[in-house]
Amino acid sequence: MVDDRIDKQRRRLLDEIESEVRATEGYTGRNKLSDQVMAAMAKVPRHRFVPPDVAYAAYANRPQPIGFGQTISQPYMVAIMTDLLDLGPNSRVLEIGCGCGYQAAVLAEVAGAVYSVEKIDGLAKSARKRLTELGYQTVHIKNGDGYKGWSEEAPFDAVIVTAAAACVPPALVKQLKPGGRMVIPIGMPAAPQVLKVGEKNMDGKISFASTLHVAFVPLVKN
Ligand code: SAH
Repeated sequence: MVDDRIDKQRRRLLDEIESEVRATEGYTGRNKLSDQVMAAMAKVPRHRFVPPDVAYAAYANRPQPIGFGQTISQPYMVAIMTDLLDLGPNSRVLEIGCGCGYQAAVLAEVAGAVYSVEKIDGLAKSARKRLTELGYQTVHIKNGDGYKGWSEEAPFDAVIVTAAAACVPPALVKQLKPGGRMVIPIGMPAAPQVLKVGEKNMDGKISFASTLHVAFVPLVKN
């Protein structure tokens, strides 16, 4: 009974994501998500990533509070950011801002390994426990400062930042492989932010394109 209801809510969410992707094609250049990203969105149990008091709205297409003043991102945003990374089954991905681990789980469904850095230790610990319970063995979580990336595990095929910075942290560019892609919201807190998509060429030079206007929590400085 409960599973039926979740299935129905999840199907409706997938429809909403598909139509929002079509509606935002002018900004993102994509009118359809890859089959792999859609399958990941269909599979990851979002109701396991939100606190019990908001579980009833786990499949609504909006962010939700997860404690510590932080949020789980809107499902459409998780889907389009994942798609924009052009991941393959062997990709190694660096995520900055693990939060509850939902985006990391979606990445793990389409990539080979995910390295996620989270500043708040309580969130890093609970995300690690949750992802282990759900069987996500290819996600590695570290409590630390995302501005520094994860140099011991670099280089990465892709970098995704799920909090907004005023400018792109240089360490993250350094830890991206030539040919790799980055998605990152750029903007000051409480000011308009833009989701930037970066491509690093074979000479190691990165160039960014602007896509959507977004609203992320800030990437906090030490
Ligand atoms: N990826 C999450 C969204 C997390 S919200 C999801 O799947 O829904 C952004 C997260 O970035 C918060 O958990 C916040 O604590 C974290 N964060 C903010 N500043 C950070 C920093 N400097 N280093 C690492 N994590 C940071």
